[in-house]
Amino acid sequence: MQNINEIEELVKLINERDELLRPMTKSLAQVYKNVSRCNSCGALKSNSAGCNNCENNINKFNKICVVENIADQWSIENSSIYKGYFHILGGTISSAGKRKEDLLINSLIERVKKDDIEEVIIATSATVEGQTTAYYIQDRLKKTNVKVSKLAQGLPVGGEIESLDDGTLFSAFKNRSRIVSNSD
Ligand SMILES: [Zn+2]
Repeated sequence: MQNINEIEELVKLINERDELLRPMTKSLAQVYKNVSRCNSCGALKSNSAGCNNCENNINKFNKICVVENIADQWSIENSSIYKGYFHILGGTISSAGKRKEDLLINSLIERVKKDDIEEVIIATSATVEGQTTAYYIQDRLKKTNVKVSKLAQGLPVGGEIESLDDGTLFSAFKNRSRIVSNSD
């Protein structure tokens, strides 16, 4: 059941819909119309401009950090642990209703080739879904010969990147380990 504060807020919105609701609906519609997801890196971008995350980035990096969602990118950016490009998958392989093809994995491989990337750091969550996804990406990257590493095992089991404190993130990055495939 909704609590009384939520109901009061709702009543307020309805009573003052011209002053409050209309501008809000208008700006949401604007966002819906003008913002889309970059087909290459998964970041949100303005429809009228290139993507600041992958195209217009003034810095040239040789690393890409792969995350599940934008909140994970923000956590890592805010902690200043990592300097490099980001790649936002848009979920995990096993997350509900997600098919592998919906995740931006093909475009990750394209970016690795196009931008002469030397290291891909997979920063998916320490959940079964996150680790399954990491394994799948590592397998797909095999042919590119790029170095693939994964955040250190110090991540709490079930830990989602966006909810980690800076200290844990820092040591997970610092102690990241290279994934060596045992076949071929
Ligand atoms: Zn992009």
